[in-house]
Amino acid sequence: MFEKILYPTDFSDVSKKALDYLKQLKDAGTKEIIVLHVLDERGIEAMGRYASGSFDEVVRRIEEEARSETRAIEKELKKSGFDVKVRIETGIPLKEILRVEEEEGVSVIVIGSHGKTNIEEMLLGSVSEKVIRMAKRPVLTIKR
Ligand code: ATP
Ligand code: MN
Repeated sequence: MFEKILYPTDFSDVSKKALDYLKQLKDAGTKEIIVLHVLDERGIEAMGRYASGSFDEVVRRIEEEARSETRAIEKELKKSGFDVKVRIETGIPLKEILRVEEEEGVSVIVIGSHGKTNIEEMLLGSVSEKVIRMAKRPVLTIKR
């Protein structure tokens, strides 16, 4: 049931908590973990408009940061003995998560209940809520 996990991360604190949880799934039979970060195309557009520097420069910086964050996660999970595949996709997070779920044929999705926004009053973030609604596979939600 936990053989191949899809772990979508926005590098938030809750997401990092989910990462700590993942490491404990070795005993549940987990072999492979797909680490997925989605560069939100809407966010990139906005940043291109307001950040200093050229649009290409801003995009390059965001991509570089995503690569360095995912590299660190990959290293950590490999140290725990998992096979790891990193995917960085550009688009709408929900759509990319559902697409990768299909493409990779994962057995379960492990996601944080909240992410970077983490509003106190919200039961769930908008991405996790929609993933829980629309994913085909079971979704394990790690609470903040
Ligand atoms: P909102 O985005 O609705 O303002 P939030 O940021 O608190 O609220 P979500 O964005 O739903 O909450 O984040 C919940 C979880 O979804 C995160 O812990 C992470 O696992 C996943 N997630 C969110 N954004 C992304 C992303 N861009 N790429 C990959 N995974 C993501
Ligand atoms: Mn979010």
